[in-house]
Amino acid sequence: MDINKKVTSTFKSLGVLKTNEPLKKYTSFKTGGPSDIIIWPKNRDALKEIILLSKNESLPVTVLGGCSNLLVGDKGIRGVVIMLNSMSKIKGRITIEDSGLIYCDAGVRKDEFLRFCVDAGFSGMEFMAGVPGCIGGGIIMNAGTVDGNFADIISSVVCMSSDGVVSMQTIAKEAAGYRTMGIPDRSIVLGGFFRLRKEENRKSVKEKIESILRERMQKHPLDYPSAGSVFKNPPGHSSWKLIDDAGLKGKSIGGARVSELHTNFIINAEKAMSRDIVQLIDYIRETVFLKFNISLDPEIRIIGEF
Ligand SMILES: Cc1cc2nc3c(=O)[nH]c(=O)nc-3n(C[C@H](O)[C@H](O)[C@H](O)COP(=O)(O)OP(=O)(O)OC[C@H]3O[C@@H](n4cnc5c(N)ncnc54)[C@H](O)[C@@H]3O)c2cc1C
Repeated sequence: MDINKKVTSTFKSLGVLKTNEPLKKYTSFKTGGPSDIIIWPKNRDALKEIILLSKNESLPVTVLGGCSNLLVGDKGIRGVVIMLNSMSKIKGRITIEDSGLIYCDAGVRKDEFLRFCVDAGFSGMEFMAGVPGCIGGGIIMNAGTVDGNFADIISSVVCMSSDGVVSMQTIAKEAAGYRTMGIPDRSIVLGGFFRLRKEENRKSVKEKIESILRERMQKHPLDYPSAGSVFKNPPGHSSWKLIDDAGLKGKSIGGARVSELHTNFIINAEKAMSRDIVQLIDYIRETVFLKFNISLDPEIRIIGEF
């Protein structure tokens, strides 16, 4: 998409900007083509200006965090990609509020948040140990594990609308679902307030985190690029088991392979392209459906042009 020089130079004044930047540099799959413009806003006002300018110029906007739950097409993403992650110039802020809630900016990495909470003597957030990416991505996806999820601990979120209006939204646990927080589409999460328990015994919190990390290292193929679990678990079933029972362990297309260690992970085994991964996803869905009459829905977000 051609973006005129004047618009690009206005964007440049609002943050760190790159053009035609390959997104595989940022995605956990290590795949994905270029974005026309990628920008790390320098502050909240700049973010608002980027949103409004993009709207004026009819440029599509995509907001990304740690890029750990994404499959980006090989032809990349048109328009403007706004990065809200730790490389952002918006310095990640974590504070303990007078109310006892903990506020955390969207761009803070989950492991940084975890460390802060352990040091400050809180518990309840241990489930996010080993889950990559940022707090904003975790909130919007309602990321979690069998030990808990974001909806268990979030109290409210600060969002920016597609008109640049900032508002606070209370989160009702019932409105959240499996990998969704129920936040309106196109809202940009700027941060969240978390309700955690005060915990004097920091050692036990640390031990729980270490034990979760050890277990994940054994169960997940962390030596290869991936985006975590590819499919949601259908009600009453485990996706990994359906894929395993369908005989797909180790199945490869191009450089993409169904992990032998955890069959709900697709790994970038050897210079995979996104199209290899998407073809493997389609193949798995088709095979599982034909064998068991069960539909697998992707948990990862598939975006951009293929
Ligand atoms: C090895 C591995 C293990 C994983 N294990 C787990 C797990 O146990 N549980 C789990 O739930 N997930 C897991 N994941 C997936 C992923 O890490 C989580 O979903 C994570 O919370 C995504 O956060 P992110 O910042 O990387 O989001 P991204 O991948 O950058 O974005 C995900 C989606 O959120 C949107 N988004 C991101 N930030 C914002 C924002 N600030 N405002 C609005 N929209 C935004 C994006 O547009 C996109 O649609 C795993 C991934 C890997 C690679």
